[in-house]
Amino acid sequence: DSGAGGEATGTTCPYCGVGCGVELRRDGEAVTLRGDRDHPANFGRLCVKGSALAETLGVQGRLTRPRVDGRETDWDSALDAVAERLGAIAEGSGPQAIAGYLSGQLLTEDYYVANKLFKGFLGTPHLDTNSRLCMASAVAAYKRTLGADAVPCNYEDLEEAELVVLVGSNLAWNHPVLYQRLRLAKTRNPLMRVVVIDPRVTDSCEIADLYLGLRPGSDALLFNGLLAWMAHRQRLDEVYLKRHVDGAEETIAAALDEASDIEAVAAACDLDAERLETFYYWFATQLHVVTLYSQGVNQSTSGTDKCQAILNCHLAGGKIGLPGAGPFSITGQPNAMGGREVGGLANQLAAHMDYHTPGAIERLTRFWSTEALVPRLPREPGHKAVELFQAVERGDIQALWIMATNPLVSLPDADRVRRAIERCPLVIVSECMADTDLVELADIVLPASGWSEKDGTVTNSERRISRQRGLLPPPGEARHDWWILCRVAERLGFGEAFAYDHPCEIFDEHARLSGLDNQGRRAFDISGLAGLSRVEYDDLAPIQWPVTASAPRGTARLFESGRFYTESGRARLWPVSARAPRQATDADFPLRLNSGRVRDQWHTMTRTARASRLMNHRSEPFVEVHRDDAEALGLCDQGLARIRSRSGEMRARVRVSAAQRRGEVFVPIHWTPRFSHSPLAGSLFAPDVDPLSGQPETKHGAVAVTPL
Ligand code: SF4
Repeated sequence: DSGAGGEATGTTCPYCGVGCGVELRRDGEAVTLRGDRDHPANFGRLCVKGSALAETLGVQGRLTRPRVDGRETDWDSALDAVAERLGAIAEGSGPQAIAGYLSGQLLTEDYYVANKLFKGFLGTPHLDTNSRLCMASAVAAYKRTLGADAVPCNYEDLEEAELVVLVGSNLAWNHPVLYQRLRLAKTRNPLMRVVVIDPRVTDSCEIADLYLGLRPGSDALLFNGLLAWMAHRQRLDEVYLKRHVDGAEETIAAALDEASDIEAVAAACDLDAERLETFYYWFATQLHVVTLYSQGVNQSTSGTDKCQAILNCHLAGGKIGLPGAGPFSITGQPNAMGGREVGGLANQLAAHMDYHTPGAIERLTRFWSTEALVPRLPREPGHKAVELFQAVERGDIQALWIMATNPLVSLPDADRVRRAIERCPLVIVSECMADTDLVELADIVLPASGWSEKDGTVTNSERRISRQRGLLPPPGEARHDWWILCRVAERLGFGEAFAYDHPCEIFDEHARLSGLDNQGRRAFDISGLAGLSRVEYDDLAPIQWPVTASAPRGTARLFESGRFYTESGRARLWPVSARAPRQATDADFPLRLNSGRVRDQWHTMTRTARASRLMNHRSEPFVEVHRDDAEALGLCDQGLARIRSRSGEMRARVRVSAAQRRGEVFVPIHWTPRFSHSPLAGSLFAPDVDPLSGQPETKHGAVAVTPL
């Protein structure tokens, strides 16, 4: 669109998993934006982060030239160096010595090419993503229960529900536009109820009819108690269970065994039994219930089981596949879902096919024409994020290519991650910003294009694929991630398979692969979008997958027919029992540590710190402490404190807060030493992970806090 007001394009916000549509306009040097009124995720709304996006653009601080061994160079030399060094390590130590670490900030097309190059052509399974830190537990539970990583609901379901339960989700801060939609829906429908289940009193509680400030880690017990309560009072949907669900008998028996006594459940969850029963009654007596959960549930050593306990209750009550009903995992990042679609997690192969999916390896070998290649496609899953960096530390991984993320900040046991990266013989970093602490450790640095410059697609939390469109030129010599990957692939001798001229061609291949031998067996199918012309791709309107010949306009809600993606077509309940967080508090580290985002910052702040108004909300790292704890520890509000754990320490401003439970403290995840004089919050957490999902436990640490 170009006209009197300059050039304009419709794109998608690069921050959270709500995936809001944005209209971006450029008039000479001036760039302005507003919410896209036609985008079904936000209908014109933007939160404060999204509305400040134009203030975060500009060349200042950007990486504009490739660097090899600390010296700036041209693209040919940098790409030659990447290919030569990767090739030498693959030849000397085998493909398993190579690893990639991706990001939910990448576009689906970038992700697809990276997955194809690493798994299909380099032959290494060790390709994982920072999405592992965000929603891997939700994915594992969906797959185990529904037969696929398939989010049943959409945003309208939040508006149509009679009861919305927020578990481990501060929607008001982390998914603000979705929160605004929920708030408005509640105003319009006074009968709608909202329950917030969270150890902290957050801003999301402003719309709560009931708040349950549970003991951290007791979520699975709380939902097992709900299942038992429903069973006792004949509130299960026996017809639905009989028709569509396996495993109900043993799962319900286990819940009855563990959690029949509501007084005992309430005591273990540190809740008032009457309030807990009110929640149970509301959930059991309403059909249209959406349970929305996020990192507070996922980031735990029992994250998969916590998600499972929620799914068990929804399936046992038949509250799924209906308007306003379902278990709804909300993703943190803009394209965590797109990464899952292409197979960007180390336990996935491609296009919702896992290593154990019958025929998947043969199908993919044929599709990518890799029959003659040595090494072949890997046969076993690779290392998940935390174990991947442990493999780097051991020396098993000798070449590591990190794109669009900074594991030094986001992974637990951050100091050890730094030591591992320092020891790695070859570290390649694709990055937009010039002076991050990760860039300093890289042997080869590749300048990548960023939001407003690149073209492709992202998928939001409700399975909606939206276009990100470029309007501004990348600064200096920055290039698109897919372009960089393809040029390396060429130099490694794989040019024919990576001869893309435009992301449209990559999207087409991705769409065709999703439909290959599918016939409804795999949830992710966008074969209906294969063969788009470049114009059609450019004009692609937001659409929810599956998109197939029989559903050409997409699919708003899954499981309406009661058929699931398991082999039997029936959902599968699993008995779970509550487990305490791995790090126990003790006399030396008596406080339970929680962590999370703040409203106006994003991840490592490389972008949001450029907009001064976003610093007004919280301008420095802080630790929130209950008043009684502050008094006992000699901490004053606005004073400074040292927070220590067994693995690290940080310094932060004290905020005495009534929102905090006694014995528990909260720190934000964003600040790096670049923006504060404190070491990282990530250094405080141990690298404990959920055994099924590999997601690290970054909501539960054990710390001591002392005045500074
Ligand atoms: Fe961007 Fe999320 Fe805010 Fe929407 S809610 S504008 S996607 S940060």
